[in-house]
Amino acid sequence: MNRSEKYRGRLAPSPTGFLHVGHARTFWVAQERARAQGGALILRNEDLDSTRYKMEFVDAMIEDLRWFGFAWSEGPDVGGPFAPYNQSGRMDGYRAALNKLRAGDFIYPCTCSRKDIQAATRAPHANDDGEPIYPGTCRQKRQSEIGDQKFSWRFRVPDGETISFVDGNFGEQRFVAGRDFGDFIVWRGDDVPAYQLACVADDEAMRITEVVRGADLLISTARQILLYRALGLAPPDFFHCALMLDESGQRLAKRHDALSLRQLRQQGRTPHSLR
Ligand SMILES: [Zn+2]
Repeated sequence: MNRSEKYRGRLAPSPTGFLHVGHARTFWVAQERARAQGGALILRNEDLDSTRYKMEFVDAMIEDLRWFGFAWSEGPDVGGPFAPYNQSGRMDGYRAALNKLRAGDFIYPCTCSRKDIQAATRAPHANDDGEPIYPGTCRQKRQSEIGDQKFSWRFRVPDGETISFVDGNFGEQRFVAGRDFGDFIVWRGDDVPAYQLACVADDEAMRITEVVRGADLLISTARQILLYRALGLAPPDFFHCALMLDESGQRLAKRHDALSLRQLRQQGRTPHSLR
């Protein structure tokens, strides 16, 4: 990050369910960090996953965030200089990034299904974020060989290279490409940008200077650093928050409905007590 830039942070929820107390905690850290720097906080609605996306959740999400005490100066409900703030409205930017990656030969078309990948991975070894290491089946494929088969675009990682970055919370992080994570999808077979690409394109376009998010995305940060590099962009700073665990040591996830902000609110909990 260029230190003369004004701090710009973001909240980037997906409207695939009701907001969870775990998300709220991470978002709260994001808001506190933006406030401490006298910076701006942006709300970005990550609604690309159209199969799981429900309109009712967007309104609920915004309402729950406001109820909890979040305030943003740019977002889908208030607009701003980098509108639209719904990812579904930002396809042109994602396509431009995809074309740049294609032009630089950083990506290749992959026709593998999830099943193919599992079958080709002899020792099924998933990394920390549960994503199996791609066995490289399609690495040499060209688009002209694909015909009318359905395919995704996959990023070729530099095998053996250590990707390191200094996290604002956890300090120095090191991940080895090809070992800790493999070639990853940047554009899905259903013609939707993958999380990694959309996130990088938007954080760049919205001039985000620090990304605050959950520690489950540490490996994704290594992937995204490779995307920034391939696109000729400087990555923002990163601050990852420890994940909340329940009594049995399981990660809190959206399926723990009892811990949705909505439910807690209905039970009479106040934002103050939750914070
Ligand atoms: Zn493949």
